[in-house]
Parts: sequence; structure tokens; C-alpha cells
Amino acid sequence: MPDLGDLAEGLAELTLECTLSRLHAIPKLPGSNGKCLNECGESIAPSQHFCCVECRDDFERIQAAKRRNGTL
Ligand SMILES: [Zn+2]
Repeated sequence: MPDLGDLAEGLAELTLECTLSRLHAIPKLPGSNGKCLNECGESIAPSQHFCCVECRDDFERIQAAKRRNGTL
């Protein structure tokens, strides 16, 4: 019978891996030049990519659609 402690540890590792891979699932974004990548015209900090969550969601939706269409 497997040690329950080992099982729990393995599960924790698996969960962590899942979380990490989800974080890295987002495709590489082009560097922003101080403008929201969704081209809404908002100025943002260079370390950011979008001005707001809505723009990020929009952008990701468009990227996903382009990937489906094979235009990306
Ligand atoms: Zn924006």
C-alpha cells in the first residue's frame, strides 16, 4: 500500500505543475510600447500589455480566433 504522505506530496506537485503550466499557457506577447496591445489607444506602463482586463480578454479572443482561422 502506498504511503499516504507520498501520495499527498505527489498530488501537491501535480497541482502546482498544473497552475504553472496554465500561467505559461498564455502565448508570448509582443512587447508593448506604452500602448494597450488591444489598440484601444490607452497609454500604459511599458511593463504592461493591456490597460484593463477587458482589453486582455478581447485580445486573447482575437488571437484564438486567428489561430483557429490559421491567420496567425
Ligand atoms: Zn485597452
